[in-house]
Amino acid sequence: MKALLYRGPRDIACETFDDPKIADDRDAIVRMTRCGICGSDLHIYHGQGFSPDLGFCVGHEAVGEVVEVGKGVRRLKVGEKVMLSAAVGCGACERCLAGDIVQCRNNLMQCYGLSHRLEGCQAEFIRVPAGDFNTAPIPDGLTADQALMLTDNLPTAWFGLKGARIEPGDNVVVVGLGPIGLMGVEGAFAMGAATVFAVDLVAERRAIAHALGAVALHPDDAPGVIAEATQGRMAEAALEAVGADATINIAISLVGRQGRVSVIGVNQTRKFELDMAVAFMKGLSFTIGTCSVQRYWPELISLIRGGRLHPERFITHVLPLSEGDKAYRLFDAREKGALKMVMTA
Ligand SMILES: [Zn+2]
Ligand SMILES: [Zn+2]
Repeated sequence: MKALLYRGPRDIACETFDDPKIADDRDAIVRMTRCGICGSDLHIYHGQGFSPDLGFCVGHEAVGEVVEVGKGVRRLKVGEKVMLSAAVGCGACERCLAGDIVQCRNNLMQCYGLSHRLEGCQAEFIRVPAGDFNTAPIPDGLTADQALMLTDNLPTAWFGLKGARIEPGDNVVVVGLGPIGLMGVEGAFAMGAATVFAVDLVAERRAIAHALGAVALHPDDAPGVIAEATQGRMAEAALEAVGADATINIAISLVGRQGRVSVIGVNQTRKFELDMAVAFMKGLSFTIGTCSVQRYWPELISLIRGGRLHPERFITHVLPLSEGDKAYRLFDAREKGALKMVMTA
């Protein structure tokens, strides 16, 4: 089959790769029809990935059609159109079944496309462990693009907002206006935020947040504008969707007393320094982590159906998998308004 493989920094391209095989009775094989490039895939692209492996297939967001199921698969049927969860659980323990995949009792929470451990979704065919649990039928009334945004980006934005404990009437800051940050802007309004201050260096991305109803701000202007709008109290909550030290510090600086900062970006320095005096005086709450994707599907499907969330509107490019190298290049350079990149088989 064809698949995008990681060969080294800035070297991801479409190559021939072994077809995936059923390795466990509960596995399913899905033929990818659409897949996405996530912001975290760029960390791999930059050579700052999650393992030293080379030559593995990348990507963790896909929708497609079931082509084969193992003997232990009960619900999934060949021919069914499904969306995959980027968070892969054992699907058998009580924590997985309750939706808390990050707390999988068998410690089997994993993600596609980070190493050879579980090959990625930017491929013609994907092996899905515990196929009954780690996929869902594409919900009635949703488009394939909407379903694709449910495989990782929208649940991650929503999980981040929940981590920031948004309350109706809050002033909310969103730092970083990539696809997930912009979904965070829309989600914060759906949760009842009175004002969303959307912060990014890129004017083009600020314009999109402005169109969603946010107060769009360059980082240099954000402290003054937010202080004035809140009579010096600053925001109640912040969602940080980049993961860089500088942007985490911006998020912390823009919340006030008892401020809640929720980080969903992947930090690359791994040595972030928190000013404990500031944190102490503010009474700062700080949360960080990855999302149990399946847990948020019921509420997010309803919100998309109800017209409250439109995650597909951040898709700017659709390219064939064979042009995956170009898709990564454009996304990395933020060229031609590149925001959410989607690839087709
Ligand atoms: Zn992701
Ligand atoms: Zn489990």
